[in-house]
Amino acid sequence: MQDERPTNLGDIDPAQVDVATDPKPKRARRRKVQPMPALLEPWAEKAKARMEKRPASPGVMMEPRGDLGDFRAVAPHDNHEVWSLQIHDAFGTRSPSTVAVFMEQLRALCGQNWNDQTKAWHPSEVELNAALNFINSIQPRNEAEAALAAQMLAVHFMTMRVSASALNTGDARTASVAAKLARTYAAQMDTLQQVRGKRRSTRQHITVKHEKHIHSHQHQHIAAWGCATPDPAPLQFLESIMPPQSNNEPASFAAAPRCQAKARSGKSCRSAAVNGKRVCRMHGGMSPGAPKGEANGRWRTGAWTLEARKLRADAMRLLDAVAELAP
Ligand SMILES: [Zn+2]
Repeated sequence: MQDERPTNLGDIDPAQVDVATDPKPKRARRRKVQPMPALLEPWAEKAKARMEKRPASPGVMMEPRGDLGDFRAVAPHDNHEVWSLQIHDAFGTRSPSTVAVFMEQLRALCGQNWNDQTKAWHPSEVELNAALNFINSIQPRNEAEAALAAQMLAVHFMTMRVSASALNTGDARTASVAAKLARTYAAQMDTLQQVRGKRRSTRQHITVKHEKHIHSHQHQHIAAWGCATPDPAPLQFLESIMPPQSNNEPASFAAAPRCQAKARSGKSCRSAAVNGKRVCRMHGGMSPGAPKGEANGRWRTGAWTLEARKLRADAMRLLDAVAELAP
């Protein structure tokens, strides 16, 4: 049977392909929706009253500025003055510079979305607004409290990321980093209560224990040299475990391009160059490293991939940074 489809996807002419005849994917049928239980009606009334009592949350829109992928936070409504008040209030400051710095830092914590119209990455307004509301909910009374609130936000975001990774990989080490992050958040909450003159919710006890490990090793000593009457058996044993002496390079080394570096003798080095490099391992050619991801022979759960390890390392650095700042 002959397949007339072009094998190279780049050869496909969109005008020749009848996209419209492709069957539309059917929408999954929803289960029958039950009417709301009557029990919820009085509750909903009260919840609505509670919601209306909550202060209006400050919001921002990110407006492109210039054409360098630069953005600035603007009011989501037309009363700029009230909006500015709300934002300053959220950070407990009257300094516009402080607000600008905090907003930039929050933006850096939040993700970005690809915008197909502008063909550029835009800061995630949803995340940024949630971040701003988080700070606002703490109601910092001054810049120092706002800074603590911003750190709590960073720890919270990291906790969520590391926890998701821990749950997906089932890795104990990742889970322990997540637990540390969660404890740090609780400690920050305590710090906040303290600076506000309230009692700490819990007392923390940190016990540092030094443990001594004793290792015992068994060695097999072979008396080969220095014996008055050498016993041939140990020598035979040594020969059997020693790799055979050989001047032959492995075939892959022999086939590799030669190192172009100049050796101290004045001639070029001529050792086998590292994959993709023009110099050998002794002349600055870094190993290209093991295969990444599932191609790696030891890949199991993904808990030890570069990304997972970097996430844990980043979380630990964040924890260290927070610990340094703690009183
Ligand atoms: Zn070399």
